[in-house]
Amino acid sequence: MHCPFCNTPDTKVIDTRLSPEGDQVKRRRECQQCTERFTTFEVAELDMPRVVKRDGSRVPFSEQKVRLSMLKALEKRPVSTEQVEAQIRLMLKKLRTCGEKEVSSQFIGELVMAALLALDDVAYVRFASVYHSFADLDEFKQEIQRLKEKRT
Ligand SMILES: [Zn+2]
Repeated sequence: MHCPFCNTPDTKVIDTRLSPEGDQVKRRRECQQCTERFTTFEVAELDMPRVVKRDGSRVPFSEQKVRLSMLKALEKRPVSTEQVEAQIRLMLKKLRTCGEKEVSSQFIGELVMAALLALDDVAYVRFASVYHSFADLDEFKQEIQRLKEKRT
């Protein structure tokens, strides 16, 4: 690893740490030439599967789109940004390690629902009601029932 300050190839690792999720290694390095210190990150490079939409078209997975729909469902709910980000990281990990080159948009929808269910009941029901576009109150009640069953 070349030093980003003086470009010498002679740098030394002085500290190595694993992220709390265990999927990232952080190394603190010191240049043997100019003694500047810097940090490098090491992550496994795995491709994100592409998303197959209902009409059969393929789109790249959008982390930002998932984040925005989750935040919309979580509006004014007592859930921290950190909790949301942890759920998104978990989702990304599931997608990267599922071994599929393509996943359906329904699969992404299910992952978002599972993430919201883990965070907040109200947000979950909000998202589910839009996602399933409940036709009437009965469908809505059924979803609440499903939620209760999952809880017990
Ligand atoms: Zn240097």
